[in-house]
Amino acid sequence: MNSTACVLFDTPQQARHWLQQQHHNNRSIGFVPTMGALHDGHLSLVKQARKDNEIVCVSIFVNPLQFNNPDDLDKYPRDFDLDVKMLETVGCDMVFTGTLETFFPEIHDLSKIPLEDPGAFAQGLEGEFRPGHFDGVKTIVKRLFETVGNCKAYFGTKDFQQTLVIKSLAQEMGYPEIIVCPTQREVNGLAMSSRNQLLTAEQKQIAGKIFQALTKARAAWQQGQRDASRLKHLMLEELDHPAVDVEYVELRDPQAWHSQSQASLLKNPPQALIAASIGGVRLIDNAFLGEEFS
Ligand code: AMP
Repeated sequence: MNSTACVLFDTPQQARHWLQQQHHNNRSIGFVPTMGALHDGHLSLVKQARKDNEIVCVSIFVNPLQFNNPDDLDKYPRDFDLDVKMLETVGCDMVFTGTLETFFPEIHDLSKIPLEDPGAFAQGLEGEFRPGHFDGVKTIVKRLFETVGNCKAYFGTKDFQQTLVIKSLAQEMGYPEIIVCPTQREVNGLAMSSRNQLLTAEQKQIAGKIFQALTKARAAWQQGQRDASRLKHLMLEELDHPAVDVEYVELRDPQAWHSQSQASLLKNPPQALIAASIGGVRLIDNAFLGEEFS
């Protein structure tokens, strides 16, 4: 595939200046925030942004504010040069990065960055198992949106709860427009993730059970199973393997975000959400049981 060099900025201030020129020239802007270690899932968001906009920009920043576990932050894979090469193959125009110092230049003591309250959608699941995670996500994403200005911003369904937190942030800010894109998967159904690099080939095979669990629940729903505890049980059964450490298996209303696991008989199709660790690598995935995978 042909690739064109993209413009690189290593501070949000430089990126903002460049983006202001694009706004001034009335160019439509598509923005994809990432933490790097890019894969085809990220690239699918960039390709969608490329179709919809005149200018596409991507941020790469492993945000320390959203890691509640320092070991997870240390282990998080990073390869900026390779990321840029991949982005150039899909027509990205600009990539920017930064540091906590440059994202929050007004804060002198970085341990005192005021964190955003992530709101009701942060309750439970990721919010419960990764305390403070969404506070950190919302704080950096707000700063990223302020840097890019009005645009279309692209996020993956894979991080379903995150999309709810981000949509409510965009509503508070009055911009940008949030576009949620389908989950890209490996051949065995495993949701692509930067963390998959940390799995052995055997662990990747086992991790396919997460997708199998969601597939079973969806098939059961589509065959008329409405009993929440039965649907959960089916998923837990599929995940029952010595190498799989389940954190949660949950059914939620995808809009209202109420837990539906307690309801005996469900009326509306729920979102099924799973978090599990394999070999110490934490993986998440989800599916709407009412339709095909997205
Ligand atoms: P991350 O770099 O993990 O913060 O992800 C950046 C964006 O890519 C987020 O909006 C993710 O939801 C999205 N993303 C991550 N994995 C996938 C995937 N397998 N398919 C589609 N989008 C994804």
